[in-house]
Amino acid sequence: MSQSSLVSKNWWANQTNYTPGRQDTIHGIVIHHAASTSLDSVGQVFSQAGRGGSAHYGVKGNQIHQYVREEDTAWHCGDWLGNCCTIGIETVNSTGSPDWLVDEETFNTLVKLVADIAKRNNLGRIKFEPDGVYPTLSAHRDWSPTYCPGDYLYSRMNELAEKANKINYPEKQPEPTPKPEPKQDEPQPTPCCTGDSDNPRGLSDEEYQKILKDIEDIKDKAKEQNVMIPMSNKVYDILKIVAIVILPLLQALYAGLSKIWGLGFGSEIDQTIQLIVAALNTILGLALVKSSSDYHKTEK
Ligand SMILES: [Zn+2]
Repeated sequence: MSQSSLVSKNWWANQTNYTPGRQDTIHGIVIHHAASTSLDSVGQVFSQAGRGGSAHYGVKGNQIHQYVREEDTAWHCGDWLGNCCTIGIETVNSTGSPDWLVDEETFNTLVKLVADIAKRNNLGRIKFEPDGVYPTLSAHRDWSPTYCPGDYLYSRMNELAEKANKINYPEKQPEPTPKPEPKQDEPQPTPCCTGDSDNPRGLSDEEYQKILKDIEDIKDKAKEQNVMIPMSNKVYDILKIVAIVILPLLQALYAGLSKIWGLGFGSEIDQTIQLIVAALNTILGLALVKSSSDYHKTEK
């Protein structure tokens, strides 16, 4: 796990305001506004014991302060699962209530920080997905009932994603390479992959969301027709451990190892495991658990 090299000041939050470690891997970034025009006020609040809240970073002008390490769980979403899979950024306002504007220099610094976090955590091309399961970019109000990050900053979420992606995926100048004429006799290869040319193997966000929806539909249909999958307690427990511990562990391990060894396929493995977990959760959701007597005997 690395930290952003863009940070101008470390101002560590009091340890009563966040949870060390994470129960999930980092899948996205959550944008907040500070509801304040002072960057220092953010660090001051988080450094006080018992404030019950924190974020990883704060930005204003060309300054970036860090309060919580990325590998630790800041309390910023108002949603525990959201906290576990995201990094939170406080954006300091240039005006107060009711507009809560953000000046351009601050917005541009936010763009750079978002791009840097996305790159180091292998988030790929980020996208503002207010209703996503694992949104790569979302705002505080997408997780819990709050005005944060204000209507002004919220209206610029798509722009934020686009500008951050431009940093990580600069547009290539089209090269005038002549296409070789295909020979008539040879069978032409059929294109097997869709999606953008940078990542021909992985799924685009739309494709990924569609597959998740398909999996969800299978569960709904089975439930409608009262189809359940009988399994023993033991099988149920094992599947649950695989879905909740083993696979996410492999996912995190590979994310680390692929970086250390330059193995590649980071996002492919990530998406593969996420889909397997989704499928396993569907099976668990349809499980009709029978307590096998053998199982209980061994427990006693
Ligand atoms: Zn917020």
